[in-house]
Amino acid sequence: MKVPMVDMLAGYPPIKDEIETAVKAVFNKANFILGEEVVKFEKEFAAHVGAKHAVGVANGTDALRLAIIAAGIKPGDEVITSPFTFIATTETISQCGAIPVFADIDPVSYNLDPKSVEKKITKKTRAIIPVHLYGMPCDMDAFMAIAKKHGLKVIEDTAQAFTGKYKFTGGDWKSLGAIGDCGTFSFFPAKNLGAFGDGGMVTTNDDKICEELKALRNHGSKVRYIHEMEGFNSRLDTVQAAVLGVRLKHVEKWTEMRNAVAAKYAEALKGVCVTPVVPANTRHSFNYYTIRFDTKAKRDNAQKHLTELGIANQIYYPIALHLQKAYAHLGGKKGDLPNCDHVQDTVFSLPMYPELSDAQIKTVTDAVKESLKVAVK
Ligand SMILES: *Cc1c(COP(=O)(O)O)cnc(C)c1O
Repeated sequence: MKVPMVDMLAGYPPIKDEIETAVKAVFNKANFILGEEVVKFEKEFAAHVGAKHAVGVANGTDALRLAIIAAGIKPGDEVITSPFTFIATTETISQCGAIPVFADIDPVSYNLDPKSVEKKITKKTRAIIPVHLYGMPCDMDAFMAIAKKHGLKVIEDTAQAFTGKYKFTGGDWKSLGAIGDCGTFSFFPAKNLGAFGDGGMVTTNDDKICEELKALRNHGSKVRYIHEMEGFNSRLDTVQAAVLGVRLKHVEKWTEMRNAVAAKYAEALKGVCVTPVVPANTRHSFNYYTIRFDTKAKRDNAQKHLTELGIANQIYYPIALHLQKAYAHLGGKKGDLPNCDHVQDTVFSLPMYPELSDAQIKTVTDAVKESLKVAVK
């Protein structure tokens, strides 16, 4: 049985009519740029994560870019983040003229390690960008405490973790992305809440940052043709907002389904490999389901075996950012961040989407088990 990494059409038939009605309404009004569907979706999204504001932007990368600028990061400033993430997290730092500084990851969660972050703080440090990798909540209490102590901004890269939750203080649930100064989200089709194209969002509780973001996404102008600064053309498309407004109503159920798939994977793979260790009082959003072996040889063998059987799989991420050519000028080398070195060599991700069937799960987990018994050429 072939198993794809994601099946973006699986969730479509039940909501097809609703989406087509919403999209046709935009076509009929032709309010393509910052139409009322965008404003409505921003309000609903802000309410969903429990943030005061949500500002729709063109994609998750621009969400980071605009959040970094709106948070006051300037050329020459240092921003500490994870080396074990998608390059969007760091190219946006560099492209603002700031300097990405890589700290090591935690060997269990694979997320940025607060203790390593503290060691990287210098006089130039202005912000921390924790990335909720695969949907796994970061240790936000620790990051917020470090930020408070050193006067830093916190931007949560929540691209993979919409609907993830964290218990912040006093037993109140907090959505990931609503804890730091800004949360950035992506609606790339394969994320938990996917558009029919590109889209992104920044959430914040800060009125001033919100005002900045709204200007930045629209050529720096708060009043039409009056520019106090330069900005970007980075608005969330109205057609996408209409699609997202419909899909938002279903996303909690889809995350529950992802968690149910994850529980079945964990049960079947007990004692076979390391499965995700979700911290108490948090909710993982399971954008990806990532397993780990004790050696690179076992990982590579499992990957080859699954591929041979037609089971999709992917290493997120095979080369950590500090070891990429794009960051050679920063001088990173193997051994600098030992947890990251080990994790990049031993993890890989299995198919994950809400509608994954029990038969598919069994096919995948049987193949992982088999891979430990056969040597694949
Ligand atoms: C997907 C992703 C982004 C970028 O989002 P786009 O919408 O594709 O621009 C940023 N950070 C992380 C961690 C991501 O996974």
